[in-house]
Order: sequence, then structure tokens, then C-alpha cells
Amino acid sequence: ATPMAVMVGTGLGAMNGILFKNAGALEEATKLDMVVFDKTGTLTMGEPEVVEVVAASDVTVDEVLALAATVEQGSDHPLAQAISKRAADLEVQTLSGFQNIEGKGAQAEIGGREVLLGNRRLMDERQVAMNGLDSEAQRLQGAGQTVVHIAHGGQLVGLIAIADAPRPTAAAMVAKLRERGVEVAMLTGDNKATADRIAASLGITTVLADVLPGQKADKVKELQGQGKRVGMVGDGVNDAPALTQADVGFAIGAGTDVAIESADVVLMKSDPYDVVGAIELSRATLRKMY
Ligand code: ADP
Ligand code: MG
Repeated sequence: ATPMAVMVGTGLGAMNGILFKNAGALEEATKLDMVVFDKTGTLTMGEPEVVEVVAASDVTVDEVLALAATVEQGSDHPLAQAISKRAADLEVQTLSGFQNIEGKGAQAEIGGREVLLGNRRLMDERQVAMNGLDSEAQRLQGAGQTVVHIAHGGQLVGLIAIADAPRPTAAAMVAKLRERGVEVAMLTGDNKATADRIAASLGITTVLADVLPGQKADKVKELQGQGKRVGMVGDGVNDAPALTQADVGFAIGAGTDVAIESADVVLMKSDPYDVVGAIELSRATLRKMY
């Protein structure tokens, strides 16, 4: 595009809360074949709330919540905040030896016994049996909720189901990108069943789930290896390498500083629909050139 067209394009973007950091991004955005969206905080509000607690037969719901909240004191994960909020009226114990288990959960010692908390993969890895709660876990995940499993002394004692509402414009954005000939995918560290349900509600058919934080960029690279030009939209620290790897990285304005620094385009209104605006604007700008 001519320098003038680029100036007009980036200026129009800025007026609408779409910040292109460089002229290259404006040109690259016209060529995208696929846009990959992080789930939590990008397609969803990123305000997870506890919606249900299931206790194993020998414990109470409050005991499950108190144990989980005790461990989550050591974590700043959004799921930890949701659990702490729900357990605000309960007494937390002192913990020692807290360890974050990236992309999976956390562990600590309480009263000399190990408490392990996180996703199903973590439970499987540590050989924690489901203790009769398997069908409950499946039911909750099938409803699009993220299930946090809590094990005490190697025994599963309960499940905490957490929901995070989709952003109101997400489904319309997916439909519009398709209409414009751009494929849409979801990329998440969350489990497949939960991710599939949320994706289905938004009209997304390509779902990359159970992806560890360190693997998000590799997934983008794989898609590029199939000959696609790939955009990535994210908000988290986890998303930063994938934003850099993508042909165009888009950061949610309310996201982390690292994501914003790694992106080519910042969506100041934190509205995923602005990806449509960004692509339309870039196409209009380039057309003026010919
Ligand atoms: P996302 O891509 O959704 O931001 P993360 O990579 O941070 O997810 O975590 C992946 C999964 O690991 C979460 O969906 C959750 O099941 C589990 N997990 C990670 N950290 C915690 C934690 N502090 N408490 C409970 N579960 C956790
Ligand atoms: Mg996120």
C-alpha cells in the first residue's frame, strides 16, 4: 500500500480502538487464511466463577472448597481466584511446600498430607483414581465447565466446576470471519470436552485443546507448516510466544503486558469482533493501492 493509504488505515483503526503497531501488520492482515483464538479471557470474559462443587461420599462440599482454597492461596491463576472468592467465608489452613504445576494445577502440603489440585491429566499422571466421580466430571465438562479435581493424600475428594461466559460478540465474530473466507480455530490449555462445548456454542469446529503453555507457539507453527497464514488472538502470558510466531498477533487490550508487547495489533476494546474490523480495514487499505 502507499504510505498515505497506510497512514489513513492505521489512523482509522486507532480511532476505532484497533492499534496497528506497524505497517507490515496491516498488509499481513489482508492475507490471513486462519485466525486462532485463545479461549480463556479472549473468547470468554476471563471472569471464571464457581458454579458447582461435588464432594466424594466421605467429605462435605465445604471441606472440598476449604482444601482447594488453601492451596490456591499460593496461585494467581484466574481459576484460583474464582475458588478463593467462593470460599471467602470458609477458614483456610496454613500450607507449606506450594508448587505451581504449569498448565495443569498446583500442589501443597496441608497438615502433613499432600493436596493436589488441577485437571484430569494431572490426576492421571499422579495415578489418582476418580473415586466414583468420573460421570460427574464428564457431566460438568459436557456443560462447558472447567473441572478442578482435588485430591487429598492421594484420594480424590471432590470436583469444583467453574464457568466462564463467552464474550457477547464472539459467535457473531466467528460467523463474520467465515463469511470473509477466514477459518477460525480455538487454542486452549483447558480439556477437550469443555473446549468442544464452548467452541460448539460459538460455531467453531477446529479445537486444539489440552495444549500446554509452552506448546501454543508450536501449534501455530504447525498450522503455518500446512501453508496457512495464521493470525493469533490472545490475552495471557501463555499466549505471548504464539502471538510472536503468528503472521499477525492480536492482543486483547485488557490482557497482560507481555501479550500486548508481543502482538502486532492491540484490540483496545478487548472485543474479539474487532479482529473482523482489523481484517476489513486492512483489505480496504490495500485495495486503495491498486
Ligand atoms: P488456559 O489456556 O485456559 O489459560 P492454563 O494453561 O493456565 O489454561 O491451564 C490449563 C488447565 O490447567 C486449566 O484449565 C486447569 O484445568 C488447570 N490449572 C492450571 N492452573 C490451575 C490452578 N491454579 N488451579 C486449578 N487448575 C489449574
Ligand atoms: Mg487466556
